[in-house]
Amino acid sequence: MSPEPFPSRRAPFFADIPDEKWNDWHWQLSHRLNSAEDFEKIFPLTESEKKALTASHLFRVDITPYFVSLINPADPEDPIRKQVIPTAGEIQPFTGMMEDSLSEDRHSPVPGLVHRYPDRALMLVTTQCASYCRYCTRSRIVGDPGENFSRADFELQLDYLRHTPQIRDVLLSGGDPLTLAPKVLEELLTKLREIPHIEIIRIGSRVPVFMPQRVTPELTDMLQRFHPLWMNIHVNHPNEISAELAAACDRLTRAGIPLGNQSVLLAGVNDCPHIQRKLVQDLVRIRVRPYYLYQCDLVEGAGHFRTPVAKGFEILEALRGHTSGFAVPTYVVDAPGGGGKIPVGPNYMVSMSDHKIVLRNYEGYITTYEEPVDYKPHDPKTCRFCQSKRIEPGQQGVSALLDGDEMFIKPEGFDLLHNRGGGQHRLRADSDKWKPLGIGSGNEEHD
Ligand SMILES: *Cc1c(COP(=O)(O)O)cnc(C)c1O
Repeated sequence: MSPEPFPSRRAPFFADIPDEKWNDWHWQLSHRLNSAEDFEKIFPLTESEKKALTASHLFRVDITPYFVSLINPADPEDPIRKQVIPTAGEIQPFTGMMEDSLSEDRHSPVPGLVHRYPDRALMLVTTQCASYCRYCTRSRIVGDPGENFSRADFELQLDYLRHTPQIRDVLLSGGDPLTLAPKVLEELLTKLREIPHIEIIRIGSRVPVFMPQRVTPELTDMLQRFHPLWMNIHVNHPNEISAELAAACDRLTRAGIPLGNQSVLLAGVNDCPHIQRKLVQDLVRIRVRPYYLYQCDLVEGAGHFRTPVAKGFEILEALRGHTSGFAVPTYVVDAPGGGGKIPVGPNYMVSMSDHKIVLRNYEGYITTYEEPVDYKPHDPKTCRFCQSKRIEPGQQGVSALLDGDEMFIKPEGFDLLHNRGGGQHRLRADSDKWKPLGIGSGNEEHD
């Protein structure tokens, strides 16, 4: 007997919508719910929700009929409801909150492009999403339809990437890249693939979760022309795993796109080891590998979602060893002020000396491991990878990174030093001797 299939739900209010409309992502997008009046047709609102929905200057509200249907109308504490329906908690300021908590703007050499790590860059391609998460880490830029990225912004972003040969991994995010007009997305991917040093492309998207109807065979046919292409989706609670999401993930993985999941630890939504265990186990059933579990960022309006970091540790303790190793995500705190993602978690090493380490396993059993006495240290002089410290066309930056010796090459025409802010830049003193590559070419000399 196979495991229980994932459910498919449609709120009674939408019962008369013909299937061909319900299953059409255009219909889902154009029939999103956003007002107190809309939601009252689906479930009664609480006073707190009503107060928030009538407040001015609130972060955008918009939810697809599909996603609203996953909410249990009888439960004001429903974990899906809390992610998308605002409450009065959103209006409360809290200590430590910041507008751009990850200092992404400070690491942006051109609008929308965040170059925080040596070999990869984050490219924000739209401010629009299929639905809006109340704890959005980029609520400062997301949601406003009048403030989107233009073709000219894309060209600047692409130009920076063309001139920065150490970037081998480009992560498309936003907003949600899968809400872009199909032609625009295809054009962007085509231009990225024309850059020889870009080895992998990643898409970060919650569209499969909010609007699985968008993952059509035409979309997966288009995406698979740009391999190697990876995708991270964003599921926070097992109730989000429906028959429709399972089918969308099946189409994506059959198109050869490896899927990961990035979730956020949220008070009142998934701050429970049992919920998290069910979440990761259901994710691997639909062939999605849990990738990151994020500590909630210090973002305006999201104070009521924050948990102590100890809650994350408790969850990881309940996963490691207790379930499939590949179902355990890395728990990260995205450092306020732009330090990047920092992995944290329970410690399994009790102590370490010259010759042995003392470890504990997931059950609390203590053991020791004897270190070797005759280890012959790795010799960088005879190692081809250590020796190729020069950045060669075709393998730019890779060896330089192996020993943590990060290098940023300053592309001509981009004032990275300025954009990286005081004391934050990593430009090496001698890096000016490295000449930037020309546009669209990977064959120039480097010294
Ligand atoms: C998260 C992130 C990345 C990708 O980080 P990985 O750990 O490789 O997934 C790249 N750039 C920025 C700015 C990010 O926030």
